[in-house]
Amino acid sequence: MTANDAEKIYEYLESQKEAQLKELIRLSSIPSVGTNPEGLEDCRMLLTDLLRSMGMRTEILETPTVPAIFAELKTKQENMPTVLFYGHYDVMPAEPVESWNTPPFNPTIVGDRLFGRGTADNKGQFMAHLMAIRACVEVLGDVPVNIKIILDGEEESGSPSLEWLAETYGDLLRADLVYVSDSSMYSDTVPLICYGNRGDLSFDIDITTAETDNHSGNKGGVIENAAWKMVKLLSSMVDEEGHVTIDGFYDTILPVSSAQEEMMEKLDFDPETLCRLYGVKRLKFEDKKEHYRHLMFLPTFTINGLVSGYGGEGSKTIIPCHAKAKIDIRLVQGQKGLDIYEKVCRHAAKAEPDAVFSEYSSMEPSVTEPSLPIIAKVREAIRKAYQVEPVNMPVLGASLPNYVFTDVLKVPTVSVPYGNPDENNHAPNENMKLSCYFSGIRATAQVLLELAEAK
Ligand SMILES: [Zn+2]
Repeated sequence: MTANDAEKIYEYLESQKEAQLKELIRLSSIPSVGTNPEGLEDCRMLLTDLLRSMGMRTEILETPTVPAIFAELKTKQENMPTVLFYGHYDVMPAEPVESWNTPPFNPTIVGDRLFGRGTADNKGQFMAHLMAIRACVEVLGDVPVNIKIILDGEEESGSPSLEWLAETYGDLLRADLVYVSDSSMYSDTVPLICYGNRGDLSFDIDITTAETDNHSGNKGGVIENAAWKMVKLLSSMVDEEGHVTIDGFYDTILPVSSAQEEMMEKLDFDPETLCRLYGVKRLKFEDKKEHYRHLMFLPTFTINGLVSGYGGEGSKTIIPCHAKAKIDIRLVQGQKGLDIYEKVCRHAAKAEPDAVFSEYSSMEPSVTEPSLPIIAKVREAIRKAYQVEPVNMPVLGASLPNYVFTDVLKVPTVSVPYGNPDENNHAPNENMKLSCYFSGIRATAQVLLELAEAK
């Protein structure tokens, strides 16, 4: 591959905009909502046809739930890396349909946007990969690197079979890099690269002290109060600074790497704007480093809900017999959901033996070291494609199932969103800006070319 190849591909992409848009419109007109098996099936058919027409070998991977689409195309060149693109072909329901300005499954161009359910989340973003691959095949008669694609059919329902898929088809999915485009760019013209995300562990705690609520006078002072027991238990787990006091809670956390630290320091931080955005009076940390450390590299312990006794009008003088707390803990690099859950349970067994735990679920954190050479190539490609320095987010505060790639498949994973920030994903009037779709196609093409460059 030469610099000339890039030029030829860019030129070709420029000439193909209409065709690229047509493919996206065709795909987005299929109502592949999770609850619509026919729509999902139609979508699989259209996509396997398209992938085959590009010269890719395709396979439908059956899972215990919704099948995934797999496609593969090997480069004719020797010793090239393999990139695995992950996307999803299911979409959110369009309801409330009356809030749309255009029919959700009749994709419509208005101004410089394509409106329709799934145009951005996620059809427009993985279609960008397909269009880039197609351009390489058309222009070069080859792809620069080995390419694999996996299209999930149930991402919007939490990808219940993704881990199973990675465990079952590990060999088929083996790659040197996983590349995910979902969600939105930093701005319409400034790309964002994410190298990891926090995990999430959630559970319920119940405390029951009596068969019914009791009279707070007749029995006041002589029987236990479930609400007080819950308050004491929870406050024994976190101190006044928000530091978790459960034994071993922080023990396995991996240190922040120098590349992660460097990226964190370059991020913007404007407390006033953030306060306005979050609708809060103040941030917990005025200091940028502390703010991002707590958002990316430190776990949380959040009370999501706390219910006990009476909270209505007037007074009701009772001793509550039951208290319930819903908790979620965002996990960071090095922490494992089950290990932390066991530590929480062990703490509670000593602090409040009446506490009953249930509804455990967890998603592991995912980390990719930003200084890896293959990751540096992605960064370089994105810089070239957008002609601007990307914003680098070492860890996303929220949770994604990317641990399936980094921990089960053991492949470095980057997430480079192609959607416009106002894409309205999951909401009425979802849209993909045409300029973002086309710049996404260029970005994928550039990534393929850059990965083929010798180190
Ligand atoms: Zn979504």
